[in-house]
Amino acid sequence: MGGWHRYCAICGGPLNLFDVEFANPAALANLPKHAALNERRLREEKPMGWEEEMKKFDHATLDASYQYDPAVLDKTDIEWLGFCRALGRCYEELENGKPEYGKGYITRRGTYGLYGEFVISRDESENESSDADIDPNDPLQDSYECYEHGADEDGIVFPFHETCFSILALAIYDEPTPTRIDKEAMYTAMKVFNDPHGHGNYLELDYGMGEQEQYWTCYHGEEYVVCDPALKNNLISRLLPLFPPPAPKPIIGLSLNHKVRSDPFSKLPYDILLTIFPYLSPTSALALMCASWHVHTQTRSFKFWEWMIRTRPLKWFPEVAEILEKLVENISGEMRDVEARRLFLWAEFATVQTRDWTVTGPLMGIANRRRIMKAIQPIVPVYLAELQKAEAGQNGSE
Ligand SMILES: [Zn+2]
Repeated sequence: MGGWHRYCAICGGPLNLFDVEFANPAALANLPKHAALNERRLREEKPMGWEEEMKKFDHATLDASYQYDPAVLDKTDIEWLGFCRALGRCYEELENGKPEYGKGYITRRGTYGLYGEFVISRDESENESSDADIDPNDPLQDSYECYEHGADEDGIVFPFHETCFSILALAIYDEPTPTRIDKEAMYTAMKVFNDPHGHGNYLELDYGMGEQEQYWTCYHGEEYVVCDPALKNNLISRLLPLFPPPAPKPIIGLSLNHKVRSDPFSKLPYDILLTIFPYLSPTSALALMCASWHVHTQTRSFKFWEWMIRTRPLKWFPEVAEILEKLVENISGEMRDVEARRLFLWAEFATVQTRDWTVTGPLMGIANRRRIMKAIQPIVPVYLAELQKAEAGQNGSE
């Protein structure tokens, strides 16, 4: 197989459905758990000793493990990978040899063509580009160079999944409306993170997964990175049953104030706690609540946890607002406080993959959305600054 892969500028994922391989369930039955993923982790964490540790697995086992588990990932979960476009910007070379950039544009649908090019779809499939969705500024080429273009980087495009562009809008505007994105400003922002002399396969961002090399690698155990991250109306009914039921007799109304001998955190007013808490990891927040009775009592209210949900998981997990509403419909008093806190912790812990927790089911799409929004965070301020610069230029020229 020749050529090389290039990936989505926003999620770092593959731009062709056929890059995603599913394993034969019978072959998977004999595999050690997540062998390929463990191999990658060993390579990253123990560059000097990973080969020794992997010798206990034979090659056939390892080869088979570089495919996704069909029991974890459904084929419908990856259909979104087939809907790709690219962001470009018109330019022309001036007489002095410098490029002058014009309008930004989004290409018609296409796929990655294996040799550095984004190729417009012209087959009979339902994914075919139609004339109805042509961007007026699109130069209407049959193919476009991704990330690099010979010795310079003028005229390149940044390929993406349509779903990812909506998530980019969600990260910037708190709503998944891609038409709100200014194409010129976004192109310039992406260019800041493009290194045409680097690997040139995606932007210089931390995509929160293993580095992808010449071809997309399907790490068995990391299926969530290709699971559909879109916001969907029917997701709530599938998410609600996953929220664990409360303890049969939760401890509420406890007061240990009279036992406190010394609590340096008691000097922290409520407003300061409100400022500090969103910056703490959930583990640190829990530790602080355990360390100080004052902090514990100040953070027991429903309002506090509702606010915590709004400032953290709600950004990448908007469905959590509806889950909270349904949860507290028929409860009141301190049980509401407990449920809001439990929901915050569940939304934080259940949607991030760790060594001890493999995300599965409908949470995979949420975990992927969270990963993508974290990866693109560095683009947001650069984009907003570009936008401001453009607006200042326009006002100045009036
Ligand atoms: Zn993507």
